[in-house]
Amino acid sequence: QSIRAWKEQLIHQDEIDRYLVDGKDFIDEEQINAALEKNRHSDPSRIREIIAKAFSIELMSSEDVAALLQVTDPDLRNEIAEAAKEIKKQVYDNRVVTFAPLYCGSKCVNRCAYCGFRSDNKSVIRKVLTMDEIREETRVLAGTIGHKRLIIVFGEHPETDADYIAETMNTIYEVKVPVRNGMGEIRRVNVNAAPLPIQDLKKLQKAGIGTFQVFQETYHHETYSKVHPSDTLKGNYRWRLYALHRAMDAGIDDVAIGALFGLYDWKFEVMGMVAHARDLERLYNIGPHTISFPRLTPAVGTNFDHSKHQVSDEDFTHLIAVLRLAIPYAGMIITNRETPQIMESVIDMCTQRDAESKIGIGDYADTYRKEQIAEREQFMLNDTSSLDQVIQKLAKSGHITSFCTAGYRCGRTGDKIMGLLKSGKEGCFCKLNAVLTFQEWLEDFASEETKEIGEKLIQQEIAEIRERVPKDFSQASFTKFLADYKKIQ
Ligand code: SAM
Ligand code: SF4
Repeated sequence: QSIRAWKEQLIHQDEIDRYLVDGKDFIDEEQINAALEKNRHSDPSRIREIIAKAFSIELMSSEDVAALLQVTDPDLRNEIAEAAKEIKKQVYDNRVVTFAPLYCGSKCVNRCAYCGFRSDNKSVIRKVLTMDEIREETRVLAGTIGHKRLIIVFGEHPETDADYIAETMNTIYEVKVPVRNGMGEIRRVNVNAAPLPIQDLKKLQKAGIGTFQVFQETYHHETYSKVHPSDTLKGNYRWRLYALHRAMDAGIDDVAIGALFGLYDWKFEVMGMVAHARDLERLYNIGPHTISFPRLTPAVGTNFDHSKHQVSDEDFTHLIAVLRLAIPYAGMIITNRETPQIMESVIDMCTQRDAESKIGIGDYADTYRKEQIAEREQFMLNDTSSLDQVIQKLAKSGHITSFCTAGYRCGRTGDKIMGLLKSGKEGCFCKLNAVLTFQEWLEDFASEETKEIGEKLIQQEIAEIRERVPKDFSQASFTKFLADYKKIQ
């Protein structure tokens, strides 16, 4: 199939139009700018009221989000950050989920100005992994490193179409590798790929997709057009804007939103993400499962000017805190694009991070080459710690690494998990799962030092579980929970 023919059948206009209201999409730039302007200077007492309201774990109004975004006073920002940490703990406890990205193809028909994979970049090596190579990569990820969750990543290209993505997922789920005490395997495959039509998304649903992730990059229409040429597939702003609505309609109810920070004003992007969550709630009664806030990093052969909308570390930390309060039920993902210092300083507000990531095509099997090779990669990473180092560091600061994927396997997805998150009950279900899967990981993969630190943490967790089982959680439901857990492992 030629690239042209493939492109022509991909975008279904009716799968955009059906979501518009009076012909308009949900990003109302005038309204966003007006809200930011109107809430430019708020009284500290108003900010504190907004913080207090956030503990109801509901999506925040745009006016309130704007007011939080406009705070510049370091002490008040600090109060917002402290509340963000408390909310993270209230909803998700001290758990952090780790995962790794698996880059499957660097071929791409688009020309996003900031990305190393853009089609006119001659410096990048182009490759699409064969199923044998996917197996090899998975063996390292599941058998040597010890990951249980992956996000598989693709350029937009006919060689990595929905059939290829589905086949990749099936291949990954089949791999089982003997490890110290049991079997290493990937239990959840999330997908970061270009927007797809509903018929293709159904193929991913059938293959057992975890979360479908599409970043809007920028919600600002004009900037979007500037960095994504209009003659490319990605040039269609609305096709991308409604990618996750289509995923919902295809039956994928865990969807993940994100913006690439550094393309336009960070405050506008946060407002855009909140509007996105609101439109998903409006139509499906469920917001995004996770939110991501990658910051632009340099890519080989790419001269994109990062200076104009560069987000400082201080503003970056603040925007994460505001997102935590604004979309309090959503998981929040921080990635190795950030330095270990930044990772450490924001991890208390986040729920997921990647670890021991390689973003060069075929790099896991080619392990353990220590240095990054720019020509293979979409962009450069700043944190290259091993999974063992990450877990040890997390455990030392009181975070338990959860390898639990049970939420997905036993049907606790979509609105079911949202209900649990909002009521705070999810913490109890998941603490036990976190302990069991963490213990399993320690036995199968940890260094002696990490095992010792991890086991101490597990003792504390067990003591807490004993105290925290909710009053309305009967013996019968506990027995059922344990039986379900055994079934899915
Ligand atoms: N090709 C698909 C797409 O564009 O949606 C999915 C994969 S793309 C490889 C994944 C994400 O990487 C993009 O959505 C973008 O946000 C991010 N990205 C691209 N270039 C980047 C850069 N220079 N720095 C940081 N993140 C970048
Ligand atoms: Fe291709 Fe995605 Fe990179 Fe754009 S961001 S060039 S679509 S891989």
